[in-house]
Amino acid sequence: MSRMPFIAGNWKMNKTVAEAEAFMEACAGRSFDGVDVAVCVPFTSLWAAKRAAGSVAVYAQTMHDAPSGAYTGEVSAAMLDAIGVDGVVLGHSERRELFGETDKALQRKVPAALEAGLVPILCVGETEAERENGDMERKLRHQVQEGLHSVPAERLHEVVIAYEPIWAIGTGKVATPEQAQEAGELVRALVGDRSKEAEQRVRVLYGGSMKPNNAAELLALPDCDGGLIGGASLKPDDFLAIVDAATS
Ligand code: PEP
Repeated sequence: MSRMPFIAGNWKMNKTVAEAEAFMEACAGRSFDGVDVAVCVPFTSLWAAKRAAGSVAVYAQTMHDAPSGAYTGEVSAAMLDAIGVDGVVLGHSERRELFGETDKALQRKVPAALEAGLVPILCVGETEAERENGDMERKLRHQVQEGLHSVPAERLHEVVIAYEPIWAIGTGKVATPEQAQEAGELVRALVGDRSKEAEQRVRVLYGGSMKPNNAAELLALPDCDGGLIGGASLKPDDFLAIVDAATS
């Protein structure tokens, strides 16, 4: 089955409103044939980015699972949807490690995003120590099963899963094509344990120091349907070069 490639930039805690608008202007006039393109934007710039966006989808970087309530500092899926946000990154390793996001919370967040009409990008990945100890498979199995636990089988294919080895994020240390393929295949098979149809349809991205000079090799892998890009998504030229690599 052919799956539409998907390139998503993760700006993390970068870009003011003016900088977000300038990025979108640099992408204006580009229509993206044969590839879905998104940027994951800080809350404060979501509204402006969406208004300036053209063909680039606008995603948030986190959300709360409850529709509303006494959760100071949090934002709900319905609030994101109400300003036209298209999707949301969930379970990024920085949120898991630095802000205590748990698999249990993700069990609620992933279906809450879907129910609100947002595309969830669920991030999974092992640390360097887990890889060295032969624990990669166990970690991915746990994170995929927990994160997708409350998603009905018929909606599993709507979730995007980003395999992001933690040792490759922001380090310049990219996974080898063999490592990325092995993990991508495993993630797909884990979805297949729930639904054979979703196994074929679900998009699995690679994330971790993907750059214009290594993207083509990774994006050509059978179980790499795109990329979640941190550092290289901050400059439009670099980001668009990776988008082009997804369609060439
Ligand atoms: C990320 O933050 O998801 C990421 C992959 O970052 P980088 O591309 O900078 O490694």
